[in-house]
Amino acid sequence: MPYKCNKCKKQWMHKIGKCIFCDGELHEIIPENLEVMHCIEVNIPSKQHPEVPYYVLQVKDKSGNIYFRKSKTQKKPGEKWA
Ligand SMILES: [Zn+2]
Repeated sequence: MPYKCNKCKKQWMHKIGKCIFCDGELHEIIPENLEVMHCIEVNIPSKQHPEVPYYVLQVKDKSGNIYFRKSKTQKKPGEKWA
């Protein structure tokens, strides 16, 4: 999850404590308008995921930040996520 500075509004992809530019507090933000880039089908069950198949999606936000999301349904590249 990305973090945003309360004062100068800069964003980071990692929790770094306080803002390194202005010493402002950071808060977690929910990425919006995610678009699916890739969708990978997983068929190997594991302890965390006994149910197969499931899908691992690579999605990106408007700024080009990349995230991974799991899905029970298959998605196509270019589809909107969340
Ligand atoms: Zn700042």
